[in-house]
Amino acid sequence: MEFERDEGKALLCCARPRSDVVVEGDVDVEEGVTTHPVRDFTGTVAAIEDCATDTRRLTVDLDDDIAFNPGQYLQVSVPGTRVTRTYSMANPPSDRRRIELHVRRVRGGLATDGWIFKNLVIGDELRVSGPYGRFFFHEMRNEPVLLIAGGTGLAPIKSMVQHVLAGEAQQQMTLYQGARSVDMLYDVDFFRTLEEERPGRFRYRPCLSAQEVDGFETGLVTDVLDREMASCRDHVAYVCGPPPMVDAAIKTLMGKRLFPRDIYREDFFDESDKASGGLKSPLLKR
Ligand SMILES: Cc1cc2nc3c(=O)[nH]c(=O)nc-3n(C[C@H](O)[C@H](O)[C@H](O)COP(=O)(O)OP(=O)(O)OC[C@H]3O[C@@H](n4cnc5c(N)ncnc54)[C@H](O)[C@@H]3O)c2cc1C
Repeated sequence: MEFERDEGKALLCCARPRSDVVVEGDVDVEEGVTTHPVRDFTGTVAAIEDCATDTRRLTVDLDDDIAFNPGQYLQVSVPGTRVTRTYSMANPPSDRRRIELHVRRVRGGLATDGWIFKNLVIGDELRVSGPYGRFFFHEMRNEPVLLIAGGTGLAPIKSMVQHVLAGEAQQQMTLYQGARSVDMLYDVDFFRTLEEERPGRFRYRPCLSAQEVDGFETGLVTDVLDREMASCRDHVAYVCGPPPMVDAAIKTLMGKRLFPRDIYREDFFDESDKASGGLKSPLLKR
């Protein structure tokens, strides 16, 4: 934001130095969290699946192992340009070579409409770097977990769910997955099976905002959460998806007595969100 530039602040993650520089980082170190260095990888597309309307699952084999915290993302170079786009890893960190990405088509989008949904094929090479991001599962927190995902915002949440259920941690988790209609929801069977296999550990609430279908909750994720939870006190929440949905979820959670320190968010913003200037500053930590 302009006022932050005036204060001499900069987003080093997307700046290009013109000469040698010394960077002094004021980095929060959280107990129990391992920070994994960013590295460059070459990936090969192993599978492409149309898993929901305008939604693709890409399986990509990397040329080396990647270490990351569940919830983090990669930057993918768009071929023929100097542009990168960010996509969250949906696989758990235990899958070190094979990554899963969920990509939603954006009409007129450079990477999605112009490449991933147009001419990307199995066997293509991808240039990726990572891991990035501060949206990841906080293992040290023992409170019950609310996971709220809109659209492909499911990707980092799926990574978290698989990681937690495979490990020592004992947190109870509830996943609210939202979409307009049933054709836009994906991985429903995957999460229903997990719910059956792990009663008491994992609850699943698929929510449809524009359709009534047996076996699905009706309403926005925030409506369903509002109906089900009298209070969210003593929980921790992870929210991911389009910025308006994330904002609405945070309002609902705070109205249910959850404090900002208990809410972790990832906004899947794109170039139009950046251009409209409606974003919170990325310099804010949450
Ligand atoms: C941390 C993070 C993680 C993400 N993870 C995922 C993920 O796992 N899955 C996923 O599907 N998405 C994810 N995203 C979103 C993703 O990075 C891309 O923004 C999205 O795929 C759209 O990219 P695109 O190049 O196709 O569209 P863009 O080129 O960004 O265009 C998007 C829209 O904006 C319009 N537009 C372009 N430039 C301008 C301009 N200057 N002014 C006004 N309008 C403009 C375009 O016409 C189009 O309609 C994530 C975003 C972030 C920030």
